[in-house]
Amino acid sequence: MEHLRNIPHMDDILKHPEVAGLMTRVRRDMVVAVAREVVAQLRAQLLAKPQTIPKATLLEEAARHTRSRITALTAGTLQEVINGTGVVLHTNLGRAPLSTAALQEIQGLAAGYTNLELDLDSGERGSRYRHLEELLAALTGAEAALVVNNNAAAVLLGLNTIAKGREVIVSRGQLVEIGGAFRIPEVMKASGAILVEVGTTNKTYPSDIAEAIGPQTALLFSAHTSNYRIVGFTREVSLKELVTVGRQAGLPVMHDLGSGVLVDLSPWGLKGEPTVQQSIEAGVDIVTFSGDKLLGGPQAGIIVGKKVYIDAMKKNQLLRALRVDKLTIAALEGTLKAYLSARPQETIPALQMLTTASEVLEQRSRSLCEELKAAIGEHPLVASIASTALEDRVGGGAYPIHSLPGFGVEIAFKGRLEAIARILRQSRPALLARIQDNCLLISVRTLANGDVQQVVRLIGNALDSLAGEIKNSIPEGPEER
Ligand SMILES: *Cc1c(COP(=O)(O)O)cnc(C)c1O
Repeated sequence: MEHLRNIPHMDDILKHPEVAGLMTRVRRDMVVAVAREVVAQLRAQLLAKPQTIPKATLLEEAARHTRSRITALTAGTLQEVINGTGVVLHTNLGRAPLSTAALQEIQGLAAGYTNLELDLDSGERGSRYRHLEELLAALTGAEAALVVNNNAAAVLLGLNTIAKGREVIVSRGQLVEIGGAFRIPEVMKASGAILVEVGTTNKTYPSDIAEAIGPQTALLFSAHTSNYRIVGFTREVSLKELVTVGRQAGLPVMHDLGSGVLVDLSPWGLKGEPTVQQSIEAGVDIVTFSGDKLLGGPQAGIIVGKKVYIDAMKKNQLLRALRVDKLTIAALEGTLKAYLSARPQETIPALQMLTTASEVLEQRSRSLCEELKAAIGEHPLVASIASTALEDRVGGGAYPIHSLPGFGVEIAFKGRLEAIARILRQSRPALLARIQDNCLLISVRTLANGDVQQVVRLIGNALDSLAGEIKNSIPEGPEER
């Protein structure tokens, strides 16, 4: 065990300047615990691969590892990302960015106490669910509303409340999976409802639904096929038809709308996504949608519809496990208030990005291109930099086959593209761009104000660090004389 003798002592690690300096920011026992773990790993490595390493080298190693782990802990893992993908509602990037109004509402309310569950008139206990109800009812035309943790929770709560142990009829064309983890048949099972599939993948008629209704039927369910479309010979039962069948049988209709847009975006070329108001108007009893998709707010599941069903959901024990917190209520209130105005697309970032005029995008793309050219100049790794037209996406399971004409900068590289993309992802803030052929594509649609300077700096830095790497890896040849 000769080679283990040089493992540094805890005292020496803690006294090492790399580590001692950490103690001003981080509790001593925390640093000690991390250093212990580092030493244990060093020991394990030396046992697995016996070799004699000088004491000083091991001490440096242990100090460096201790420092980097503590630094990582204090930095946290949730990082700011610049979205250069052109996908406005990118689920991996946290979907909708919040509006200033939503942030102000959080800031103004969350730092102190609020009347979250207090009725200020009577001084009695109130309900947290009453806060957004009037606003949502006014905006959607529904009788009542309830907000839960996310749309998956909204669907689960609706099904469990109305159809636990009973049958729910769904068209085969709507048994969707969204975002990998949300599958209609699985949510149905988890809710305790029994799924009854009718029709076929491409065609379902009102008569298929009507014929499947039996004494055990509790609900007719329709899911918005958010992230795909079936094209060709298709027949779906419209909401109106579904409501008619439901009324005849005395059964409620529930519509999982997914994205939940409150404004008609067709003036901006975004046609075909049904609004929440349209579902309510069609006579649907319960409509569910997300807070952080097209609505442009925080993660939440919004349920609007008939009071009798919403009241039943409020009494369901499950609601306690799905409830929203004050941060969500504050942010959603800030977001929803914008929809009282005539132009929510001017203040809600997701809508802003979706409705930005093409000429503005092109102008921004040109200026980003100029700035990048000026900053990078001739570079051995860069073949060309150009402003180009490209296709953006709405994302968040809305308008799946609809591409948004966008603009961005295309940087063609002479190799090392994967390495550059990785360095950009690891930068602070991180920069996520599209990779296509030998190019990095940065869409300007999803860049926030002030991101341009950062993008220029981050790409410059990434190129510098790669150029440094390449220079260092070239073996030195014999000197020329
Ligand atoms: C996105 C989506 C869901 C899941 O919503 P979350 O808010 O992510 O829980 C459910 N149904 C449909 C149709 C969707 O588009």
